[in-house]
Amino acid sequence: MPPKAETITLIGAGLNGPLLALELVKRGFQVAIYERRPDMRRVRMSAGRSINLALSARGIYALSQAGLWNDMHRIVVPMRGRMMHSTASQITFQPYGRNESDVINSISRAELNITLMNAAEERGVRIHFQKRCVGMEMKSNVIYLQDEMTGEQESVGGDIVIACDGSASAIRGEMLKRSRFDFSQEYLDYGYKELTIPPAVGGKHALETNALHIWPRGNYMLIALPNVDGTFACILFLPFEGPDSFEQLSTREEVREFFQSRFPDASSLMPDLVDNFFANPVGSMVTIKCSPWHAEGKALLLGDAAHAIVPFFGQGINCGFEDCSVLLQLLDRHGADWGRVFHDFERARKENTDAIADLAIENFVEMRDRVGDPRFLFRKKVEFALQEKFPDRFVPKYSMVTFLRVPYASALKRGRSQERILTELCEDVDRIDELDWAKAEKRIYEELTPLESS
Ligand SMILES: Cc1cc2nc3c(=O)[nH]c(=O)nc-3n(C[C@H](O)[C@H](O)[C@H](O)COP(=O)(O)OP(=O)(O)OC[C@H]3O[C@@H](n4cnc5c(N)ncnc54)[C@H](O)[C@@H]3O)c2cc1C
Repeated sequence: MPPKAETITLIGAGLNGPLLALELVKRGFQVAIYERRPDMRRVRMSAGRSINLALSARGIYALSQAGLWNDMHRIVVPMRGRMMHSTASQITFQPYGRNESDVINSISRAELNITLMNAAEERGVRIHFQKRCVGMEMKSNVIYLQDEMTGEQESVGGDIVIACDGSASAIRGEMLKRSRFDFSQEYLDYGYKELTIPPAVGGKHALETNALHIWPRGNYMLIALPNVDGTFACILFLPFEGPDSFEQLSTREEVREFFQSRFPDASSLMPDLVDNFFANPVGSMVTIKCSPWHAEGKALLLGDAAHAIVPFFGQGINCGFEDCSVLLQLLDRHGADWGRVFHDFERARKENTDAIADLAIENFVEMRDRVGDPRFLFRKKVEFALQEKFPDRFVPKYSMVTFLRVPYASALKRGRSQERILTELCEDVDRIDELDWAKAEKRIYEELTPLESS
């Protein structure tokens, strides 16, 4: 492996591109990446790239396989659960799982990106910055690039092209021109904006460090993820239009008043709130599904280019890194028989990426509307109690997705069955000791087989 020194061209040095590239170099391929942005290690990062991501089992597995995870501890902050903040500034902690190890890891997107680019370059990957892909000739595998500084156009070839160019993929745009290419995109009516909570006096975090903080407000929410430098990266999710929307927040006074009345404890920790608010853009969120992900046995879409999802399950990059793991496994199995590898890759991944797209939308409703609801919190307690009693069959959906690498499609299906069982068991019950355990056992054995996970 490989039979000859094949060259692989990747588009996009975001998160998936460099990770995949370094693993391909390990396997003997020559890899070049073309990236439209300047090198963020040399140029100050623009707003919109400083959000934090939550890394969990699938992402950690791929990073471990690449030999990178052990060194990342210095740039991640483990989060043990959700810390909910009510309008009256009361806080409630809801752990993510039953075990100490059930944590998700907050990491700055920029730090992760830099770590991956450094590792890729150290292993021999060439990254060409400010080269925007503007088109591709599928039959001959020629890629057209535009230099972002000079505007000059050039073309490059390569035996194989892998598009890691994110949700607005240019290569996907080319595939869209081919016949029988299925494509759907659905935007949320919500936008998001980055904000920051600076460190408290002494450099410590101003809120509990090891938690993902949420201010759920029914139709909108604010979240905050800890950084290693004592700051919190916050994201405000708000409808674009209507009452309590971005459209309504056009003056400094409106922003100040909105935060003071809706998120009083957070707003008191954000001295630069109003400046931040107007300096940062409003981002949009989209679900993209398409097929086929490959063309001519030579070009492949991977990560957000193939399946962008909304961020509410914290799985976009975990799913993308799992794409990398699966692709590499197939490559190791079949050798550089790319047509077969690409075909099997899509067959293995498509139903799972469709499932996480749907799960992410469901989690949006859960985080926004339900996490503050006492009935929801009671159901969570019942879930943990059922898991305690039937650990190989009843595993909360969140755990299957986040702490285990259960295929997303199985997690979706089992999650629906578990929801039904929970609804039946929680009807007219307000305390765990009132649960009908015989019924629980009967229903769980009827509907749920023992869980298989990698
Ligand atoms: C608000 C928000 C919060 C999120 N939170 C989480 C989270 O907690 N956990 C999680 O797992 N995921 C999260 N995600 C999702 C995650 O960010 C994406 O899934 C992930 O970045 C996708 O990686 P990628 O490499 O496919 O694309 P990207 O990271 O978007 O990288 C694509 C790269 O391609 C480059 N590019 C684009 N077009 C071209 C072109 N024409 N030519 C050359 N280069 C090009 C871009 O500049 C970029 O560098 C979140 C996303 C958002 C928006």
